[in-house]
Amino acid sequence: MELNLVMLGPPGAGKGTQARQLRRKWNIPHISTGAMLREAVAAGTPLGREVAAIMGNGSLINDDVITSVVFERLAQPETKAGFLLDGFPRTIPQAESLDRIVAGRAPLIIIDIVLSEAEVVRRLASRMVCAECGANAVGDGSACHDCGGPLVPRADDRKQVVLNRLKVYRDQTEPLVQYYGRRRTYCHIDGARLPDDVTMEIIRAVETHA
Ligand code: ADP
Ligand code: ZN
Repeated sequence: MELNLVMLGPPGAGKGTQARQLRRKWNIPHISTGAMLREAVAAGTPLGREVAAIMGNGSLINDDVITSVVFERLAQPETKAGFLLDGFPRTIPQAESLDRIVAGRAPLIIIDIVLSEAEVVRRLASRMVCAECGANAVGDGSACHDCGGPLVPRADDRKQVVLNRLKVYRDQTEPLVQYYGRRRTYCHIDGARLPDDVTMEIIRAVETHA
């Protein structure tokens, strides 16, 4: 059965952390636009050079640019059994494009992970990520759980940039809650609980909505 999941929610809500768990459970690819863009920046590709400054201040890159990146990825055979989109769509035009891209496939299941702004700011101020693979750190060890790489703060987790990412989320991404909210496959998830509890709540919600 095809499982097409979209993770919604503010920065720091746990989309990436949850996606890594769910990818293992259902064996579907985790497509993180943020991770793909950070890789492009690190590799110095034309795309990376185009988006580096915009990402650095927490603003959104151009809809057409990111949509074609996602379009290409979703056309690959590895997404036949489904996919887990993390970080896309982030605007209404992106959501409309996604609906066109997946027309005829299994319906999108929307996982909206809800978290207060105060909690977002608190979490991102202390977040550490793996310099090698980008995974979020778990607990307070000094190396990555996935690959053993060194842990560092994420470049866009500086306070000023976090406040801009929150404003961008409020203005451009939160309208997606209305866009998707009436669908039978929309799931509202409390992101303030412990990571394993959030994972269980998502699995339960997906199993009843798929
Ligand atoms: P967050 O932790 O804020 O959810 P991500 O890792 O998903 O961040 O994305 C990091 C940055 O990459 C964003 O701040 C933005 O500049 C860019 N980006 C990622 N996905 C998109 C998208 N769908 N549309 C536009 N810009 C995007
Ligand atoms: Zn790692």
